[in-house]
Amino acid sequence: MADLYVNGEWRAPVAGGSREIRCPADGTLAATVSEGTRPDAEAAIAAARRAFDEGPWPRTPERERGALLLRTADVIERDAEVFARAESLDTGKRMVESEYDLADVVSCLRYYGGIGGVDAGRVIDTGRDDAVSRVVYEPVGVCGLITPWNYPLLQASWKVAPALLAGNTVVLKPSELTPSTSVLLMRALEEAGLPAGAANLVLGAGPETGAPLSEHPDVDMVSFTGGLATGRRVMAAAAATVKKVALELGGKNPNVVFADADLDTAVDFALTAVFLHSGQVCSAGARLIVEDSLHDRLVDEIVRRARRIRLGGPFDPDAETGPLISAQHRDKVEAYVAAGVAEGAVLRCGGERPADPALAGGHYYPPTVLDECRQDMRVVHEESFGPVLTVERFTDEDDAIRIANDTEYGLAGAVWTQDAGRAQRVARRLRHGTVWINDYHPYVPQAEWGGFGHSGVGRELGPSGLNEYREPKHIWQNIQPRPQRWFRG
Ligand code: NAD
Repeated sequence: MADLYVNGEWRAPVAGGSREIRCPADGTLAATVSEGTRPDAEAAIAAARRAFDEGPWPRTPERERGALLLRTADVIERDAEVFARAESLDTGKRMVESEYDLADVVSCLRYYGGIGGVDAGRVIDTGRDDAVSRVVYEPVGVCGLITPWNYPLLQASWKVAPALLAGNTVVLKPSELTPSTSVLLMRALEEAGLPAGAANLVLGAGPETGAPLSEHPDVDMVSFTGGLATGRRVMAAAAATVKKVALELGGKNPNVVFADADLDTAVDFALTAVFLHSGQVCSAGARLIVEDSLHDRLVDEIVRRARRIRLGGPFDPDAETGPLISAQHRDKVEAYVAAGVAEGAVLRCGGERPADPALAGGHYYPPTVLDECRQDMRVVHEESFGPVLTVERFTDEDDAIRIANDTEYGLAGAVWTQDAGRAQRVARRLRHGTVWINDYHPYVPQAEWGGFGHSGVGRELGPSGLNEYREPKHIWQNIQPRPQRWFRG
């Protein structure tokens, strides 16, 4: 087993460990991969450090770095089927969803590849004829990139592409539950011609192979996507060496529906908002906030349709959504639902593991709707990260905004109304990093992604995503140096 990529070589872990990855849909063996430990992470950091300090990558013109990302996108597009299969086997998600993710990975790489060399900084008017001055961008240095299991390759691409474009060297640490496509990504970068040490890969558990990326003095920046509790740990660990930190954490995202919304469309999108990938989406619309007068009709229809959603594995052509990532995660989701019911929520559908024997080998949990919820319930304000919709009512616009913003998170949200003025007013007042009007979930790599509040620090995608990985540097040149005689001497 030699899946660790360090200094341009495929290596076995120092301690020789391996890990079996089992498909969450049926428990079959998806892959056996290397299981690294701390010394492997340290070797990868050392390789990235050397490649940054001595290697060609930081000094390669940005346009050429961009061209490498474009070539990598071509390789991934060519091998899309292989990538999609690996992603589906690791995560349990349907093949069609993995294929969509792959298309998004390719467009992320092409977006950053395409802007390589476009922004050369800025020239500043010094107001003098004896000096010139400009601001250029420098890479931050060695970047530790830590990713979660829900969109393994997509989250990796959001970090790897801008970090490499900016001239950094990186160590990628994917979730131990879903490592396969990160291995394939390294192979694609290798085939595209990335110099040794510019991108390195360690696999293994977070405390073993992730923690060194936030602790080690040779790492200049740590970029983390994952849960809030781990994010806090990463940020605290990074403080000791004053690393630059970027965090993309969770969300508890409001989907606000006014009574004048088109009912059919609002129902349809409310289902996708929360049940896509069985709710294992950081921007999932898990809190339905509905105007009182529409409540009964909207919720009845959501419940009717939610009951019909068909569960199944990655290769089941009739499946509409897949399993949860692990048995442990399903236990957590179940506990949230039980806590909601105990606190007074009305269970309208779901809430019990499916009885279908065909699903018995997977970690399935059905689409679940909890009605008559209040903000003080745990299931409403904490991230269950499962297929669980909570429903709250509002009376007017101010009330809707107050409820929607009453969360420690602030990643994303939506507003549904046919009143164009109200749509804009509410969108401006929602304290969330992305707001959709009469839509849910779409994003483009050109626009920033990230959250207010405890949803994170910094942004991914868009020009700000690139700026996370580079530092502006002011270069001033006196073009007529001569004695100044400030002091007569
Ligand atoms: P997690 O926090 O459990 O793990 C994320 C990563 O951190 C994994 O690679 C893990 O191995 C690693 N890790 C664990 N302990 C660590 C430590 N002490 N030091 C360094 N690394 C460590 O999260 P998860 O369960 O894999 O992912 C789900 C979470 O990710 C959800 O909360 C979700 O909202 C969030 N998420 C956010 C976004 C976003 O864009 N904001 C996107 C996707 C997922």
